[in-house]
Amino acid sequence: PVKEHVNANALVDETVAFLENEALHRNITIERSLDSALPPVRIDPSQVQQVFLNLLDNAIDAVGHDGTIRIRTQVAPTAGFAQIDFMDSGPGIPPQIIDKIFDPFFTTKAAGEGTGLGLAISYGIVEKMGGNIRVESSPETGTTFSVLLPLAETA
Ligand code: ADP
Ligand code: MG
Repeated sequence: PVKEHVNANALVDETVAFLENEALHRNITIERSLDSALPPVRIDPSQVQQVFLNLLDNAIDAVGHDGTIRIRTQVAPTAGFAQIDFMDSGPGIPPQIIDKIFDPFFTTKAAGEGTGLGLAISYGIVEKMGGNIRVESSPETGTTFSVLLPLAETA
């Protein structure tokens, strides 16, 4: 994996471009709130693209139809990291399964619709980049996945 200096906002835009037709088709609005002053991150862009695609794909599945997905970028409160949040207005993740969602082959989707590998692979990629993925979820607010990626230059 080749780590390069990458603009995470551009990676978000590319990810949205891949899936915006699907979202439009389901009347799902994708809102972006991107920090234009976000410094570059040091990652393998094609691998992190896979992570963003998977999180956005999961968010679209969670919303189903008629809802909103927000993607936000910012300098993380944790020094030296960028934070990319994928927030959906879906039903949330039940507390009894939230500890299992990163396990390989764990899926709640019908056979043929989910492999249960997306989050497991995403977790491995982000960890290898020196970052982290966190999840917060509730039935009232939906689900937020936060990806932390190392900034290229740390002050
Ligand atoms: P798959 O999408 O193939 O099921 P993933 O590893 O991407 O596999 O996700 C595992 C499971 O985590 C999903 O089947 C679903 O139950 C849960 N999940 C992931 N993202 C969300 C989300 N945004 N909202 C609700 N549940 C989610
Ligand atoms: Mg998935």
